[in-house]
Amino acid sequence: MKETVVSGIRSTGKLHIGNYYGAVKSFIQMQHEYNCYFFIADLHSLTTHPTPADLHGNIKQVLVEYLACGIDPEVSTIYLQSDVPEIAELYLYLNMNAYKGELERSTSFKDKVRANPDNVNAGLLTYPVLMAADILIHKATKVPVGKDQEQHLEMARTFGNRFNRLYNQEYFPEPYAFTYAKGLVKVPGLDGKGKMGKSEGEGNAVYLSDTPEVIRKKVSKAVTDGGPTAPNQEKPEAIQNLFELMRIVSSADTLDHFEAQYNAMAIRYGDFKKQLAEDMILTTAPFRERINEIASDTDYLRKVARYGAEKARESASKTIKEVRELIGFRSF
Ligand code: AMP
Repeated sequence: MKETVVSGIRSTGKLHIGNYYGAVKSFIQMQHEYNCYFFIADLHSLTTHPTPADLHGNIKQVLVEYLACGIDPEVSTIYLQSDVPEIAELYLYLNMNAYKGELERSTSFKDKVRANPDNVNAGLLTYPVLMAADILIHKATKVPVGKDQEQHLEMARTFGNRFNRLYNQEYFPEPYAFTYAKGLVKVPGLDGKGKMGKSEGEGNAVYLSDTPEVIRKKVSKAVTDGGPTAPNQEKPEAIQNLFELMRIVSSADTLDHFEAQYNAMAIRYGDFKKQLAEDMILTTAPFRERINEIASDTDYLRKVARYGAEKARESASKTIKEVRELIGFRSF
């Protein structure tokens, strides 16, 4: 039997290059080798209180972009988290054995508290529990994610194992982060600091749907410095990030050329950024065309979502039935 894979993307709208190279690219490759479930994490996005219109629009956008990237709804199961109520039920059960202290220690929770001290809601605290439910509901063993999700995966294993111990059953298998690359991927942003992300501020992320003009503008504004002051010197973070992005979207020859120029202190950041922008435009071009095509086909999207929800619920309801039995919710 094929191993089961689960992974999701937040429904805060539009996929960026980080999502693609960190996660979605693996989804495309995995779908023919594994039993794959890919979902849009629309319940998770409620932590930031979107308006109904924004929520709906963003969910549609992510679904369209998943399909544009090459996820085949006939091969993989692609669905909305909110269409599978069994996930919310498992989340409730797992919450009973998830402890405040360990949830407060999660790095992403601490980051979010720092960013939004006025909206520290219980959904935010229990975000990793919902993520564990997403994975465990299909008894998945492999989760294609970027490096930022490593800690959440560890928590999913903890909650699954705790459930197993409590009910004295080897019920949930342990899920592990998966990538075809050497290590988990972290795509940097254009702001000279951390990762590319939706919540890292305007201009940090390049979206698959960005027009060539927008990409050129964003890359030209990326943070650089006054240039190297000694041959072969170590690159400061902002510059290293741009080289990392070039490694992802450009050819090895292009990267070698600019590496050599940097090491010889002959690099012109204007040329370097121009090349980076053009290569980003080239790698994202096929997605842009498909995104526009699929977005206008509402009938198709409706069918995909309905079919995906059916398949996901088939697997999820089997798990919930067994979980209820284990817990002691049994018929008289
Ligand atoms: P999110 O956009 O936070 O819902 O992330 C969805 C998926 O994309 C997760 O698997 C993340 O690990 C991955 N991801 C998001 N940002 C990056 C990034 N900058 N580099 C690599 N992977 C990322």
